[in-house]
Amino acid sequence: MTVFVLFQNLKGYGSMPFTAKVIKTSEWGAQSPKVGASPFSITTPQYVIVHHTANNNPPNDPSQRTLDGAKQFARGIQKDHMNRGFSDSGHNFLNTTGGFVLEGRHGSLEAVLKGRCVQSAHAAQDPGKLAGGNQSPGIENEGNFMTFQMEQKQWDSLVELCASLCSSCNISPANIRGHRDFSSTQCPGDWLYGQLPRLRQEVADKLGLQITSANLNNNPTDQILKLGSNGPEVMKLQRLLIAQGFQPGAVDGIFGENTHVAVIAFQKSFNLTPDGIVGAKTRSALGM
Ligand SMILES: [Zn+2]
Repeated sequence: MTVFVLFQNLKGYGSMPFTAKVIKTSEWGAQSPKVGASPFSITTPQYVIVHHTANNNPPNDPSQRTLDGAKQFARGIQKDHMNRGFSDSGHNFLNTTGGFVLEGRHGSLEAVLKGRCVQSAHAAQDPGKLAGGNQSPGIENEGNFMTFQMEQKQWDSLVELCASLCSSCNISPANIRGHRDFSSTQCPGDWLYGQLPRLRQEVADKLGLQITSANLNNNPTDQILKLGSNGPEVMKLQRLLIAQGFQPGAVDGIFGENTHVAVIAFQKSFNLTPDGIVGAKTRSALGM
């Protein structure tokens, strides 16, 4: 049995019901989390994070594109993660080669249906990388996508799941990221990482959103940054402001009030319109 839930979130990016069919932990025979670990704390997600399991690709994929194979694969990954000392599966969702989506860490589905996530263990922050990975839903995709191209069925279920998550958790499709944006890793593979702009575009289309193509790129260079923006470009902005003697607060990739005030101070000192919005002129003055 799979769970099909209709969920409507009327603000922001939440224009779509949660249409992804997620097989819950109780339906694939998950072990209980380690004693004392659950329920996991509830977090506010900022991103949707894409991984690959680095397993064999079809025709030698672990799940063999079947439902039973998918459940067996989920049990195997959980066992492996717990043997490595995790409290439970590290990720929140698993998307198999057959297009089956399985809940990872216990409580993940219930949390995202409420617009939240559970504290997980799939994308720890390494120096110079984005923060907030383990507070955001992580999707493991069965396979190794360094060069192998994901088959259509698995791609379609990934798009459906990402759109459902962006909608229910009110996350911009521009904030669909790869594991390598958070940690020093090759995950989710060069090919899949290179497909993230297409994934963001397809998710935006599904949600009926108009997002400029620059904002969908992995390394946007002409993106407008303002209060509420986040991501690697904001970290770069914060570093450059600090280098110029301004004080945007922590280099955390989040364009909050401190960064806003620092941008205005910078703009005033360079005789730019002090609107707190980082467009082409402010970028150029900063050397971005
Ligand atoms: Zn990963």
